[in-house]
Amino acid sequence: MSVTHIIGAGISGLAAARRLSEHNSKIIIYESTNHPGGRCRTFYDEKLGLEIDNGNHLVLSSNNAILEMADINQLHIENNAKFNFVDLKNNSTWVVDAGSGKIPWMHKKPPGVNAWNLLNDYRNLNCDKTITDVLDTSTARWNSFWVPLILAVMNTSPDEASTKLMHKVLAESLLRGGHYCRPVFTLNGLSKAFVEPTAGRVDIRYGATLKNVEIRNNRVSNLVFRGFEVNLKPDDAVIMALPWAAAHDVCPSLPKPQEFNPIINVHFKTATSVETPQMTGLVGSYSQWLFRRKNVASITISAANQLSQNDNDDIAALVWAEVSNLLGGGIMPKYRVIKEKSATFKASPTVNASRPLTQSVTENLFIAGDWTATGLPATLEGASRSGFLAANAAKQFLSN
Ligand SMILES: Cc1cc2nc3c(=O)[nH]c(=O)nc-3n(C[C@H](O)[C@H](O)[C@H](O)COP(=O)(O)OP(=O)(O)OC[C@H]3O[C@@H](n4cnc5c(N)ncnc54)[C@H](O)[C@@H]3O)c2cc1C
Repeated sequence: MSVTHIIGAGISGLAAARRLSEHNSKIIIYESTNHPGGRCRTFYDEKLGLEIDNGNHLVLSSNNAILEMADINQLHIENNAKFNFVDLKNNSTWVVDAGSGKIPWMHKKPPGVNAWNLLNDYRNLNCDKTITDVLDTSTARWNSFWVPLILAVMNTSPDEASTKLMHKVLAESLLRGGHYCRPVFTLNGLSKAFVEPTAGRVDIRYGATLKNVEIRNNRVSNLVFRGFEVNLKPDDAVIMALPWAAAHDVCPSLPKPQEFNPIINVHFKTATSVETPQMTGLVGSYSQWLFRRKNVASITISAANQLSQNDNDDIAALVWAEVSNLLGGGIMPKYRVIKEKSATFKASPTVNASRPLTQSVTENLFIAGDWTATGLPATLEGASRSGFLAANAAKQFLSN
């Protein structure tokens, strides 16, 4: 029986395994760390004495590929596409509510937004420029709607972010109606919801770091890991589901990775607990989103290029000063700051144009990962789709 060797147990590698496992192929995943999930994982934090995610992940009800990976019992999907916002500079609040229908309509709009200017903005995004090249930054809707949305979706500042990627995300969500923009929360963390359902049923070899790929006659003949090697049979396939830099290291013919942006998450252990997960958009502050689940309140700061230079304790103090009123005030509780320095590639037009297609590199080597050319920014949805595409290509090779 031929074997598909998948390198990397992040969401893209797991998605590839999931798709292939439906077709009775033998699959082995090799993962350099001692856990699955990659940039999407839950872990026990000694200091807080509880499980936290490496970072809050916003998933929408339109994200079919990552939802296919999920254990539905581990999710809470809102009935309506409703998002609460607070401007921390002046304490004004507003609600964005796109309802639950299948036509684009906002029952409650952010300041400055109406159906016409939103549609006009959407049309203007249909090009290949940066967002500030085409949207008017002097409007009320720029600060109340566009900036929070762009940072959350693209992890890139609007003056660098690609119109093309943003347009695609809107076309798949907001433009299809509220039914497709409902937030999806995990009940017990990322791993239980998105990782374990697949990781729990495939053969994963941990502590296996790929160093080199040997190619003979346009086929991978040998996978060289730190400390051991795997010789491939002629009809074995390889799916490389590594981060961009690691993929380029082992396969230098792939395009060179360019720029990446960090994301900071600050997790506070709160005295009170919430029954259902919730999320609030924050404006006029470093803090951009507040996620609450049980007794953890987590703040996300995307495109945190400047702030990530600061000391963790300073970041926590700064964030707590901004959000403490929303969390009942008092002295700063126990916290954990997680800086993911290369959280995602910078979603700029230049970087986007350099992403390779999820295609074969040699006859039996296929690539996956959020950085491949899925047409989406670096997201769980993009990573899952890239894994499915690589699995389909590998299946075709295996059946020949
Ligand atoms: C803090 C943070 C917040 C985010 N927020 C969101 C969000 O709100 N919504 C959203 O949709 N997405 C979000 N993302 C992006 C999302 O997490 C990623 O797009 C997705 O997890 C990438 O999956 P992947 O499989 O492509 O890569 P990875 O998760 O990086 O998986 C690659 C795997 O390969 C392993 N590996 C690396 N080198 C080797 C080697 N040489 N040999 C063997 N194994 C190796 C790694 O350990 C890893 O497990 C966020 C990411 C971060 C970091």
